[in-house]
Amino acid sequence: MQWNFDNSYARDLVDFYAPWKATPVQAPQLLLFNTSLAERLGLGDLPAAEDRGQLASLFAGAELPQGAEPIALAYAGHQFGHFSPQLGDGRALLLGEHIAPDGKRFDIQLKGSGPTPFSRNGDGRSALGPALREYLVSEAMAAMNVPTTRALAVAKTGEKVFRRRTEPGAVMTRVAASHIRVGTFQYFAAHMGTDHVRRLADYAIARHYPDAARAKNPYLALLELVMDAQIALVAKWVNLGFIHGVMNTDNVAISGETLDYGPCAFMDAYAPGTVFSSIDANGRYAYGQQPLICRWNMVQFAQALAGVIVDVDEAGGLAATNAMLETFPDRYAAAWLTGMRAKLGLGSAMDDDQGLANRLFEAMEGQNVDFTQFFRALATAPESGAEPLRALFVDPTAIDPWLAEWQARLESDALPANQRRAAMDAVNPVYIPRNHLVEEALAAAEADDMAPFHTLLEAVTQPFTERAGMERYAEPAPDSFGPYVTYCGT
Ligand code: AMP
Ligand code: MG
Repeated sequence: MQWNFDNSYARDLVDFYAPWKATPVQAPQLLLFNTSLAERLGLGDLPAAEDRGQLASLFAGAELPQGAEPIALAYAGHQFGHFSPQLGDGRALLLGEHIAPDGKRFDIQLKGSGPTPFSRNGDGRSALGPALREYLVSEAMAAMNVPTTRALAVAKTGEKVFRRRTEPGAVMTRVAASHIRVGTFQYFAAHMGTDHVRRLADYAIARHYPDAARAKNPYLALLELVMDAQIALVAKWVNLGFIHGVMNTDNVAISGETLDYGPCAFMDAYAPGTVFSSIDANGRYAYGQQPLICRWNMVQFAQALAGVIVDVDEAGGLAATNAMLETFPDRYAAAWLTGMRAKLGLGSAMDDDQGLANRLFEAMEGQNVDFTQFFRALATAPESGAEPLRALFVDPTAIDPWLAEWQARLESDALPANQRRAAMDAVNPVYIPRNHLVEEALAAAEADDMAPFHTLLEAVTQPFTERAGMERYAEPAPDSFGPYVTYCGT
């Protein structure tokens, strides 16, 4: 493999991490390797079968790739609204930063590679199921053009981990723009003070938002750019029916990528209160709460940055920060509406589009209508009629007034019908990683049958192209599947 490490975090931010090593495992076995991502990273081809043993030890953390300098990162975070001052990489190791042939920098992280100084009472390990879920869902998200960390490999460790039951252990290799989180800033704001926050902010600006360096107040500019990136991200989640599940500030990446696929899931039936996580009993991170929580998280980020913002502008820094945060609702509404226009096939912007979109969700509420199927069926309605769409509703007449309104709106839109259909199909997926399919694939994998996983992966990594023979991958869960709950997913 052609690694090209340049470890700027380790070099520039000494005392922001602990140098560490993975714990050797019994019998590493390479289960998944993402060849298209490896190609994008310029890592070269998957080695021949005889070299796969070496690859297995590499992706299980037993052997270091050349140029790696493994470290465990320090961070804090608000978990379900409560501040935990001491989190950090408790079961992950940053191997280093790989520079791809196009010059882009990527963190290469092992997740599940053994205890670290940040493990607290945890075992530092990951079970196979959550590793596979992250691989599947993050690759699906990437295919749907949602900013996300990626999955390069999964290796089984040959060891058991103990969760609610005994499960096979695994290590997942994650690729990310970086692993700097809102919680990273919170850690240094809480423990070290302004100088450390400034160093981290300067590093984050140089790495992710170089334009901010030229602003009058670079740290206020950083807040604005991170806020915009988070808004764009959460609007995409909401537009796709995705529920992250644990929007704690330690899972909010400064880069704007989706980070940490724990108890995440896609909604089947549209219901804004949908929650899947057993650890989110109060619905803090329910589907419809996500924009509000995103805003709350940005307030925490602003709080962590306040010291350095005010250092630059003592007279106006705080007022400017508050004014910036006040713009959140309008910015979010604009990002969401842009996404909705695309989903609804609107080629232009008109005054009442937001009202049109809102009235759609009012019509969908309580109708047990599959969120994903609805938008695919909508695209075919102008040509093939609305029956398949209406059939998705408990009461088919519930959507009739809205459909008439939408059709009328299309008439004042210049987009030709065939182009509209194609444009809608390019943003409204057919195949998403539905919970019952994910569970089915994970259960088979645990019994050493990877075939269902690979079929599902194939479906969701070409999410917009309907294919014959894959009908069951476009269907919601059968009633027998029952209410879905993830137990933390870790
Ligand atoms: P997560 O729920 O994956 O976002 O993790 C939250 C925090 O708990 C992070 O600091 C993790 O490193 C830590 N953590 C989660 N699971 C484990 C584990 N099995 N061993 C050690 N630390 C863990
Ligand atoms: Mg996390």
